[in-house]
Amino acid sequence: NRRIVLAAHPQGAPKPEDFRLEHVEVPVPAEGQVLLRTLHLSLDPYMRNLMDEVGPSYMPAVPLGRTMVGATVNRVVASRHPQFRAGDLVLGNAGWQDYALSDGSDLRPLGEMAQPSLALGGLGMPGFTAYVGLLDIGQPKPGETVVVAAATGAVGAAVGQIAKLKGARVVGIAGGADKCRYAVEELGLDACLDHREPALAERLAAACPDGIDVYFENVGGAVFDAVLPRLNDHARVPVCGVIAHYNDKTLPPGPNRLPLAMSIVLQRRVRVQGFIILDHYAERFDAFRRDMGEWIASGRVKLREDVVAGLENAPAAFTGLLEGRNFGKLVVQVAQD
Ligand code: NDP
Repeated sequence: NRRIVLAAHPQGAPKPEDFRLEHVEVPVPAEGQVLLRTLHLSLDPYMRNLMDEVGPSYMPAVPLGRTMVGATVNRVVASRHPQFRAGDLVLGNAGWQDYALSDGSDLRPLGEMAQPSLALGGLGMPGFTAYVGLLDIGQPKPGETVVVAAATGAVGAAVGQIAKLKGARVVGIAGGADKCRYAVEELGLDACLDHREPALAERLAAACPDGIDVYFENVGGAVFDAVLPRLNDHARVPVCGVIAHYNDKTLPPGPNRLPLAMSIVLQRRVRVQGFIILDHYAERFDAFRRDMGEWIASGRVKLREDVVAGLENAPAAFTGLLEGRNFGKLVVQVAQD
């Protein structure tokens, strides 16, 4: 039984020494518990925030020496819980390890899904984030212009495709020519701009001749700077993530552009709204599963996974996520079923 623990709080980008691979006994379930074998581990940007000494307000930080947390697809290998049987496939929170115990309260039965890892991506938390952020907060109307950052990622790819389904004109922003080509040719976006190339602001202005009505913020940094001047009156900005800043140790050097940003928010009556997806499960998850299930089944939403083989490769893959090395939803294949 292998597990990866947090060895040190990263200073800036996580390094291999910030993680430690340990070998421990396979735990034995007590009455009321199940023993889980991890098949797939989801790697997600929020985990970076949990590695700091003080975690975000919405989730506790991972203490030093403890197993890194994460959503997982698991096979129940032994059960002393009345609702689960050995062999059940479940969505769980086993974290970065081969085996884990659960009291069942955090498990969701998956039945026999054809592609269970989708429960970690398009049919799970990231897809749900796209759905709530875009539809409930962004509220795109037919003909409006939607811009989405990290447009080929787990959240962004769903945002762009749902926005197209709702009749919007969609411009993606992504890192590299391959991702941009994929966003247009496979995901069906109207245009996609490479944020690694120069003059993003000018190219964005040319790609959005009618301005921007919805900006789905995944990134922050230079991408937000390029978007800000193009926001229309009454634009909506769901603030989902600012991944460009997760490794920052200090605020960036000046000039201080907050007064400019706030003036634009004021004069153009922009609605900027942060959200944490954990708040929305009770009210919206069933509607999401129904709609997204239909869109995927009918081929109107396509999903791409970036599958990394082997638990031992999770730290490097996670570091790559914060640098844009993943192409699609990043999932670790921990064991073959
Ligand atoms: P992705 O699959 O999109 O992977 C992250 C991507 O972010 C990278 O591939 C890269 O794409 C982009 N990126 C990384 N670093 C930078 C940088 N410095 N500048 C610009 N782009 C960068 O991840 P997710 O879809 O899982 O997450 C997307 C965002 O959504 C994150 O900010 C995450 O924190 C947030 N999120 C928020 C939730 C909430 O409840 N509010 C829930 C889930 C996710 P590229 O190469 O195209 O630049």
